[in-house]
Amino acid sequence: MRIYTFDTTLRDGTQGEAVSFSVDDKLAIAQKLDELGIDYIEGGWPGSNPKDKEFFARARDLTFSHARLTAFGATRFAKYRVDEDPSVTALVEAGTPAIAIFGKTWDLHVRRALGITLDENLQLIAETVKYLKDHGKEVIYDAEHFFDGYKASRDYAMRTLEAAHTAGADVLCLCDTNGGTETGRVAALVADVRQQFNGVIGIHTHNDSDVAVANALAAVEAGATHVQGCMNGYGERCGNANLTSIIANLELKLGHTTIGAARLASLTPVCKFIAELANLPLRSDQAFVGKSAFAHKGGVHVAAVLKDPATYEHIVPELVGNQQRVLVSDLAGRGNITYKLKQHGLADRLDEAARRSVLDRIKQMEYDGYELEAAEGTFELLVREAVQPGMHFFDVDRYEVATRSTAPGVSETTATVILRGRDGVHEATATGHGPFNALHVCLRKCLSQLYPQIAEVHLTDYKVRVLDSYKGTAAKVRVLIEWSDHRTSWSTVGVSDNVIEASWRALVDAIRLELMRLADEHPAPTAAATN
Ligand SMILES: [Zn+2]
Repeated sequence: MRIYTFDTTLRDGTQGEAVSFSVDDKLAIAQKLDELGIDYIEGGWPGSNPKDKEFFARARDLTFSHARLTAFGATRFAKYRVDEDPSVTALVEAGTPAIAIFGKTWDLHVRRALGITLDENLQLIAETVKYLKDHGKEVIYDAEHFFDGYKASRDYAMRTLEAAHTAGADVLCLCDTNGGTETGRVAALVADVRQQFNGVIGIHTHNDSDVAVANALAAVEAGATHVQGCMNGYGERCGNANLTSIIANLELKLGHTTIGAARLASLTPVCKFIAELANLPLRSDQAFVGKSAFAHKGGVHVAAVLKDPATYEHIVPELVGNQQRVLVSDLAGRGNITYKLKQHGLADRLDEAARRSVLDRIKQMEYDGYELEAAEGTFELLVREAVQPGMHFFDVDRYEVATRSTAPGVSETTATVILRGRDGVHEATATGHGPFNALHVCLRKCLSQLYPQIAEVHLTDYKVRVLDSYKGTAAKVRVLIEWSDHRTSWSTVGVSDNVIEASWRALVDAIRLELMRLADEHPAPTAAATN
């Protein structure tokens, strides 16, 4: 069956504690959601803040190939006539083809929050829906607190829906605003509403009980054909129902049509895009689209997955634009190594004995506190060293770093590095912004004549983690560094009880790997093995 998708990332999603979008971000996301095939994009509440007003003004210049842009608002205030209520007229002025308005379902809210009679509330709902219909809008009526309101009084909850329905609402959307309703109850209440009303029934769930997606799916099974949610599950408190997972489940598990099978493969890239603009990491364990969603670590799992992915994967990852990953760690069996070798194009270059020795080295390193899962660069270096044991490039003889405070709050760092390369001994001294920078500058100086390409390598991220905190400041630390050379990026890891030594190891590995790769790409005489 065709199920309509209603995305509220730009409205409800932005009520999430860490989520914030500029107007430019919102316009870019709206465009992306349209490309993804979402049916309705709720852009904001034009009556509530100037940012959303600007969004709708600028959204007039966008062209949507499929989606209906939707403005969000509330039923009129009791004190205004509907055509004089500024927030209702702002909705019309937003110029969108569709409008979502919420009204009160729960008698407690009507009496306590609005301070009006139950009949007056029915009037607010009916008049606002009718006014928007008279202005040619598609109206989605959001029954706020529907499930709690129904519990308090089924009769009154149904009368509010009746008021919206009679006034011409196109969708009656049932909201689990507080997110506390259990799945069986959602299904039963949706079925009850389905029996009373014809037309489109919608569902809007929140994740406070960690079952928002399940609740939305149960509602669809009970007859809802319009589903609201947020990409990546953003939203107030514990978030809205994750529309990504809803779409994937409806399409792949329940046999319904939402954005269609072809566009499903855009789910992962779109989720990453939105996370990027939200400046939040995409949760790696996010179902379907997270980096770990199809990642295999245990040796037994990997061996089976390599024979047949269906053994430990519930769907084919490419269907949602994701991919299988095999992690390297102390749980790894030889299957992981084989997989990784293939990935780096080195599969045919290690024999069985060399593979076993790489695996043993990995296990030892992980035991010492290295984490190779995250440090693909260090892993690649290990393998390349096993493939070409003679290829060494340089040896570090000695390094020295000194930091002196020159005035309160001001310090100065100098480093010296001595290393042996193919063309003899090099020594460099440099000052830097702190010890690690000074060392990096020295290393570059020493190697710049022989390998000018390493000037391209620069740090993009640096993380330190204490490994055995019970030792206090004497604890071992693990330094994980991300590098880029404008073509590709990789991470290396170093472990030591000295943060400078750990950083230095990660730095040296990063440079060695870059040199090995370059030598592999251009096997010129200058790149021949040394020592
Ligand atoms: Zn909500």
